[in-house]
Amino acid sequence: MQILFMHVRFEMKTVYGFDNLSKLVQAIVLIAVSSCSFNLVGAYADQADCGQIHEQITHDALAATFNAANLNLVERACDSQSKPGSEAASETRRHFGDENFPKALAYMDRQKRLIIDFSAAADTNPLDRARALYHLGLLLHTAQDFYSHTNYVELGAERLKEKNGGSIKDAYAMDLVDWTKLSAARTNTLQSSREIYKDDPTAAQGKIICGNSTYFKVAKELAVKETIRQWNSVEALIKLRHAARANAILSAMKEASCPYIKDLDKFPEEEI
Ligand SMILES: [Zn+2]
Repeated sequence: MQILFMHVRFEMKTVYGFDNLSKLVQAIVLIAVSSCSFNLVGAYADQADCGQIHEQITHDALAATFNAANLNLVERACDSQSKPGSEAASETRRHFGDENFPKALAYMDRQKRLIIDFSAAADTNPLDRARALYHLGLLLHTAQDFYSHTNYVELGAERLKEKNGGSIKDAYAMDLVDWTKLSAARTNTLQSSREIYKDDPTAAQGKIICGNSTYFKVAKELAVKETIRQWNSVEALIKLRHAARANAILSAMKEASCPYIKDLDKFPEEEI
């Protein structure tokens, strides 16, 4: 780059004089910087950047429910959503990465349907068992991202302040989202943008103090509670759908062995 500039400088100085050269160099630098920023923003916009927090959230929520191997499968499926370069990482609906909330909710509903469908043979077929757990992991990732990628926590903090005469007191008293209201929401108040991502304790928004905690910690705690709620809801649906066999199915999902799927991001979602 330096050689190029020296060359340009020599040519321009000879032909147009120093002022024009200075302007040209400024223009080149400006173009280079703009194009660099554009690429960074582009790369960011195309890829989920959800950090390593999902594994920990899922573990905290479900370690007492699943055996280690099956929990590991759920955690790996959850993490596969943000594998760099994957199609999953670039789909904003999987990460509450934009304000098209109905699309994210539809994605979660689809994962739930797939879990229920594959659970039909989860007690007898180890591959279907793995598939059901895989889709549980996908569902959980999206549900967990809601709290760290939208301003739900910030709005919750405001509500707590109003309730407590200006102070938050216990930030962990925040309620989980009512998904049914979210799907009908036509509101400008609930937003999602990269500037407010808080899935990392060192992120600018994650570090902000929120009562007796930080936005990162509150979002994480809500995500743990949400993960437990999602599993409870899946359990209830399996009981509803499979009635007499439900207990055998649920026991198998929690404890029976599954084949090890090496490349989970390639685990066929559509053909299974
Ligand atoms: Zn994500």
